[in-house]
Amino acid sequence: MDRNAQYLDAMGITRWQLRNRSAESVSADEPPMQSMAADAAPDIARMDWQILQQTVTACTQCELHAGRKQAVFGVGDRQAEWMIIGEAPGADEDAQGEPFVGRAGKLLNAMLLAIGLPREQVYIANILKCRPPRNRDPKFEEVVQCKAYLNRQIQLVAPKIILAVGRIAAHNLLNTEQTIGRLRGKVHLLSEHDIPVVVTYHPAYLLRSPLEKRKSWQDLKLARQTLNEMSNGSST
Ligand code: URA
Repeated sequence: MDRNAQYLDAMGITRWQLRNRSAESVSADEPPMQSMAADAAPDIARMDWQILQQTVTACTQCELHAGRKQAVFGVGDRQAEWMIIGEAPGADEDAQGEPFVGRAGKLLNAMLLAIGLPREQVYIANILKCRPPRNRDPKFEEVVQCKAYLNRQIQLVAPKIILAVGRIAAHNLLNTEQTIGRLRGKVHLLSEHDIPVVVTYHPAYLLRSPLEKRKSWQDLKLARQTLNEMSNGSST
């Protein structure tokens, strides 16, 4: 176990596994797309940034490619300490090719700035790289197809902390169906990567429920405190 993991264990932080069904658990009568994702994953896990981005841009592994203007890869500092993971592109992101550029994105930027983080200093990505029609929830098979891309982004950035924004990001990263209310306020561990995860509300929800902004501020402070404690712990 590395030092981060020891530290997080000592803090009593919950460990989670990325939502994952092993290739063996995929039954023979399920669509072949799911086994294809498992086969493709080892290659994706070795891609550099350039090849990964080209692969995502050209991806046709699920039906979402048919309705997209473009895939939305991710943006920001590729050596960032903070990685922000959202759900999927909306109309603005689909049009501009960048995550969180609409109204929710502006609020996310303001939230990050409030904690001292200009948007350029974090890395931002989504669970899905293509916009679901009418912004519906991602389907299971879409998440399965896209998961290796996000996993590789996490590996390449190697952030010290992940902020999961919203239910879809939290559920798929932490392999749980617990409510955001239950997941926020504690530090989880993405054990596949040994990276702590803090869950907070999606900024689109905060636009509808501004009174909850207070709680998201607490979440950001928790993330910053966790990162600071880890940095202090690793220097002694
Ligand atoms: N909502 C998300 O979850 N991600 C985006 O990129 C935009 C809106």
